[in-house]
Amino acid sequence: MRAILTDPARRRSTPALPTLLGGIARCGKCGAGLTITGKLSPAGETRRYACQKNPSRPERGGLSINAAHLDAYVTERVLHRLTHPRVGAGNASASGPLRQVVKINTRIGQLDQDYQDRVITRGEHRSGVEAAAAALRDVERRLVTAKGAIALYAAPIGNRHALQAWWDALDVTDQRAVITTLITRLRIVPGRPGRSFDPGRVRITYRP
Ligand SMILES: [Zn+2]
Repeated sequence: MRAILTDPARRRSTPALPTLLGGIARCGKCGAGLTITGKLSPAGETRRYACQKNPSRPERGGLSINAAHLDAYVTERVLHRLTHPRVGAGNASASGPLRQVVKINTRIGQLDQDYQDRVITRGEHRSGVEAAAAALRDVERRLVTAKGAIALYAAPIGNRHALQAWWDALDVTDQRAVITTLITRLRIVPGRPGRSFDPGRVRITYRP
């Protein structure tokens, strides 16, 4: 796949690859969705998300940001968010069920520990885990009805290392779904030219 895509003879006609943040990241000056520009170099470091010039929209163009760095930064923020789900959000949002998943997984961990420590019997452990599994199925049903939240259903919420492996196994389309489930607005504000990647330019609004 990569060999075909980097063949110079084909490069011009290669259709756009799905990008992690194309269209999701928006220009902080004019509000347009940013699109990927630049060649896919072996290092992947030269591509940028850019506000495209548009002759009929003179306010457009001029703003861009390094794509690899922005992808890495937003991925880090998303995984951090899933490692520490915010408490206090409304039950109607995806956050309510997510907190439930954390509580249930904590409960199962406690049951395992109690059984290991012989605080509870094998039967008590089994019935406790069965009850927790039933609660997880209930949360699953609510996640399906919460808009977009299905993308998060197998996410190992609260476990940073497991989250990284889960994220890496997702394709870009699913990663984009996770991002738009958690983030309502991703704005890139102007920066000084020639500066290295500046996280201060990235303004993230999380879904409450
Ligand atoms: Zn713009």
